[in-house]
Amino acid sequence: MTAALDIVITKAESSKLNDLNLENIPFGKYFTDHMLEATFEDGEWSSVEIKPYQPLSCDPSTAVFHYGQAIFEGIKAYKNAAGEASIFRPYDNHKRFNKSADRMSMPSVPEEIFIEGMRKLVEIDSDWIPAKKEHSLYIRPFMIGIDAVLGVKPCETYKFIIILSPTGPYYAEPMKIYIEDTYTRAAPGGVGFSKNAGNYGGSMKAALEAKALGYDQVLWTDAFEHKWLQEVGMMNVIFVINDTAITPSLEEGTILEGVTRSSALTILREMGLKVEERRINIDELIAAYHSGALKEAFGVGTAATVAPIKEFGSSNIKMELDVKNAVVAKEIKRQLDAIRYSEVADRHNWLFKI
Ligand SMILES: *Cc1c(COP(=O)(O)O)cnc(C)c1O
Repeated sequence: MTAALDIVITKAESSKLNDLNLENIPFGKYFTDHMLEATFEDGEWSSVEIKPYQPLSCDPSTAVFHYGQAIFEGIKAYKNAAGEASIFRPYDNHKRFNKSADRMSMPSVPEEIFIEGMRKLVEIDSDWIPAKKEHSLYIRPFMIGIDAVLGVKPCETYKFIIILSPTGPYYAEPMKIYIEDTYTRAAPGGVGFSKNAGNYGGSMKAALEAKALGYDQVLWTDAFEHKWLQEVGMMNVIFVINDTAITPSLEEGTILEGVTRSSALTILREMGLKVEERRINIDELIAAYHSGALKEAFGVGTAATVAPIKEFGSSNIKMELDVKNAVVAKEIKRQLDAIRYSEVADRHNWLFKI
C-alpha cells in the first residue's frame, strides 16, 4: 500500500457502554462498539474499515479452521489521572506480529494499518478505557487465512482484525507451578517464538493435567531432556538468584519474546541487579534453592504484568518460595504501573499517545 491509509469509518448508532458497569468485569468478555477489519487480496492490503463490532461470516471451508494460519497480539491502552490515553509499546508488538506472520507464511501488516489503525480505533472507543488504576483496555489484533479451499498451502487472502475489550484488575495470586516432564510447548525449529493460535491449543492439556494435581500452571522445559527451562504457562519467566535476574535466552526460538519481559529486564538493570539472558536448567534452579540463593521467581506478561511464583513441584521435587518478601517482583510491577498511568516520566518512551 503506497498511498496514505484511507480508513473507511462507519460509526455504531448507539454505544453499548451505557448498559455496562465497568467495575469487576471478567477478562475478555465484553467488547467495545467498534472493530477494525482489513483485507489482503491480490498481493496487497485493501479496504481498511472501522465499523460496528459484529460477527464474521465465512465459508465452512475457510482455511484457518483447518490448517491454523492464525496469529495474534495482546496489548493494553491506559488512561492516566488527567484522562489522557496511551498504548504501551505498540511498535514492539507490531514488530513481533510481523515475525509471527513470517513464520506462519502470512503477509506482513504495514505500520499504517497496525499502528495508525489501532490508534484510530482506540480513539473512537476511548470512552471504553476505564479511567482507574489497575484497569485498562485490552487490544487484540489478529490475522487469519481466509481462502475457502481445502488444499494445504499458504492462503492468498487474509483478514487483519482488531477488537478491544475493557479489563479490570488482574489479581495475580502467587502461583504453584508444575515442572513439566511430559509435554512440550516449543522446540528448536518450531513455532514457539511466534504468537500463533496453535501454541495455545497445544498447551491446554498440560495446564489441565497440572491443575488436576493441584498446580496453577506449568513450567515448560525443553523437548529433549525436559530439563532446560523455557516459560511459565503463557508468560516469560524470571528467576532472581542472589542479586542476579536470570531469564531464558531467545536464540533457540523456543521462547516468545515478551514486551513485558523486555520492560522488566530494563527496570531490573535500573534497579542495579545483574541481568542474564541465558540457558538455565532445573539442576541449577534446585541447587540455588537448596543453597538459599533462589530469592524469587515470577512470570511476566501483558495480562498480569508480574505473577509471583510461590512453589515449584513435580513428582519428586517441592521448592517453596517466600513470596511475602518478593521485593523485586513487586518493584517491577510498581514501576511499570507508574509509567503506564503517567505518575512518573516516561523515560523510555514506552507510551504511544492516542
Ligand atoms: C504473549 C506471550 C507472552 C508475553 O508477552 P507480552 O508481550 O509480555 O505480553 C509470553 N509467552 C507466551 C507464550 C506468549 O504467548
